[in-house]
Amino acid sequence: MKKCPTCNKQVEWQDNPFRPFCSERCKLLDLGKWVSEEYRVPGKPVREDPVENDEEQGALESSSSEF
Ligand SMILES: [Zn+2]
Repeated sequence: MKKCPTCNKQVEWQDNPFRPFCSERCKLLDLGKWVSEEYRVPGKPVREDPVENDEEQGALESSSSEF
């Protein structure tokens, strides 16, 4: 038996598609942790889209926030 890196629960390794995690949830949580740490890098803006795309994005964002 191993311990799940996310919740420290004992993990069954046999027939476990999510190992070393105990479940898909813990696997996703761990991935999410890494992703959010990656995105936390300060500095440049993430995207450098041309103005046309930027306008489209703004329209989408404002309509979804209204909703
Ligand atoms: Zn777990």
